[in-house]
Amino acid sequence: MNHERSHALFSRARELIPGGVNSPVRAFKSVGGEPFFAQSAQGAYIVDVDGNRYVDYVGSWGPMIAGHAHPQVLAAVSETMVNGLSFGVPNALEVTMAERIAQIVPSCEMVRMVNSGTEATLSAIRVARGATGRTRIVKFEGCYHGHGDSFLVKAGSGVMTLGLPNSPGVPSALADLTSTIPYNDFDAATKLFDEIGSEIAGLIIEPIVGNANCILPRDGYLKHLRELCTKHGALLIFDEVMTGFRVALGGAQALYGITPDLSTFGKIIGGGMPVGAYGGRRDLMEQIAPSGPIYQAGTLSGNPVAMAAGLATLDLIQVPGFHTELERRTHVLCDGLEAAARDAGIAFTTTRAPGMFGLYFREGPVETFEDAKASDTARFNRFFHAMLGRGVYLAPSAFEAGFVSSVHGDAEIAHTIDAARASFAELG
Ligand SMILES: *Cc1c(COP(=O)(O)O)cnc(C)c1O
Repeated sequence: MNHERSHALFSRARELIPGGVNSPVRAFKSVGGEPFFAQSAQGAYIVDVDGNRYVDYVGSWGPMIAGHAHPQVLAAVSETMVNGLSFGVPNALEVTMAERIAQIVPSCEMVRMVNSGTEATLSAIRVARGATGRTRIVKFEGCYHGHGDSFLVKAGSGVMTLGLPNSPGVPSALADLTSTIPYNDFDAATKLFDEIGSEIAGLIIEPIVGNANCILPRDGYLKHLRELCTKHGALLIFDEVMTGFRVALGGAQALYGITPDLSTFGKIIGGGMPVGAYGGRRDLMEQIAPSGPIYQAGTLSGNPVAMAAGLATLDLIQVPGFHTELERRTHVLCDGLEAAARDAGIAFTTTRAPGMFGLYFREGPVETFEDAKASDTARFNRFFHAMLGRGVYLAPSAFEAGFVSSVHGDAEIAHTIDAARASFAELG
């Protein structure tokens, strides 16, 4: 494969954009090499500026659940944009979007639109703190909630370890207010709440972890967290920026039957445009300005073109059987990859949720962040490049989930499994 143009663009980009990219994982740092620059994308495929074509399992990191450049989404965008790109006064599409989210996700009695997942999670913890009058936030090792100060906190070894910032620029005075515990550890959560439950404003979790590869909750784990939060008067916040509208139409909360107090969304509800949202219990959401004193605002929030793209995407996925089919395809892909690895005698396993998967170079099961970290990442990196060379684009990190869309058909999946057979053989 020729990557001349991508290479030239990356050289130019590095002069003026930190690391040459506007979001770190795009730089291919963990897998090595240089990123390709996109020229276009259509359906399950992305094409780079040198004309190379890849089956895309990243899907812009989640939004493209119905495939790239879906004609219905593009039509909604073009019909809407001719009326103006932004108004700074309310528009009808914002109301439609709020009604749609509330209908699909019953725990969201009210919603507020923002412009990214990061904004959604920042706002949700502000509401949690404002509404409870408490300051402490609990998060989980390996969970990502955007780049807000309170979330860029690494866990220490012990359950009770207070946060230490893992990014310069995050004041420890703020990071100290975030406690981090291991995901899927029932006792760690119980112990933390027993000790400091009355200080906890909110617990935020990716109900299915998609930012530490892909880790599913153990049976009863989310229910356990729900009960702890209720008992101690803390708010349960489901960060469904990735899982929302994907693992089930109603997200992970629908899949597992848990009602969080607040939820955050992004990715799919923007259909590829920059959008986020948060919502939840009416009594909490009513405390947000201007109906209440908790301030949160946004010049471009509820942008009509973004709402149109999101609503068109929701139209496409809000059809009976959509998520069952997405789940089936995810299984066909993962079963095929596992079989190919087995035939090659390579220690390998997958984790799956509908439309989402994790790949690990180790034997299963993978149930914790420690398990995920024990994957042979050097091997993953070689596999990543071997697949890329065969026209399959996987997430460029051993710690990111992959995504299947509704247009990853039999042909694309078969090509992927063939490419994996050849790549596994090459790994030896
Ligand atoms: C992507 C993601 C975010 C951040 O969203 P941005 O739009 O990138 O700011 C937050 N939480 C989760 C679970 C995510 O996957």
